[in-house]
Amino acid sequence: MPRILLIEDDPHIADVVVFLLEEQGHRVDRATDGRIGWGLYQKGNYALVILDLGLPGMHGWELLPKIRDLQPAQALILLTALGEEPERVKGLTLGADDYITKPFSNPELVARVRNLLRRVPPLPELRVYGPIRLWPEKGEVTVNGVSLTLPLHEFRLLECLMSQVRQIFSRELLLLHMYGDELDVTDRAVDQAVKRLRKKIQRLVPDFDGIETVYGQGYRLREGN
Ligand code: CA
Repeated sequence: MPRILLIEDDPHIADVVVFLLEEQGHRVDRATDGRIGWGLYQKGNYALVILDLGLPGMHGWELLPKIRDLQPAQALILLTALGEEPERVKGLTLGADDYITKPFSNPELVARVRNLLRRVPPLPELRVYGPIRLWPEKGEVTVNGVSLTLPLHEFRLLECLMSQVRQIFSRELLLLHMYGDELDVTDRAVDQAVKRLRKKIQRLVPDFDGIETVYGQGYRLREGN
């Protein structure tokens, strides 16, 4: 079942929403703060975001365009106490697919979620690391929003590193991921590819030092980028 991200600071409402959705078989991640919600969103791949507007940390009006910018096709429902028409219109204009006004009826919430999930196609998987966005299935990478064209083996190298931040990948493993079982490549090909990759990223973000060499072990992405 698809995962849903709920960003709502009222614990009672959040409890009800989580209960209803889990009852339908969904897995729900929740955040009670806009900034934390944005952090979760960037790391996860969510079929649906349910977003409250009045949030500590970062207001829903600030969060919504950021989500839209990162994943234009993200399914998103606004959960708001502000039932007045201008707020609803603003939400829909900013790209919400639907809205639910608090207080809501439980069957209504379940039905709206179900309808929306039925009509949106699944999103392509997205990996995020600092300024880098990588779509494994589409074979696309952007750095600070600028598209980066990489040879396949450099793309695969980055894809592998971005699959798990802080995890150390050995040269052997990276090589296998980059070239499959081609036999005429050596470990040095990994070092050279890392060097080129760093340069290409640094052309767009000069102080980027996210790819760390772990002496005697391999490479990894540093935490905190
Ligand atoms: Ca709120």
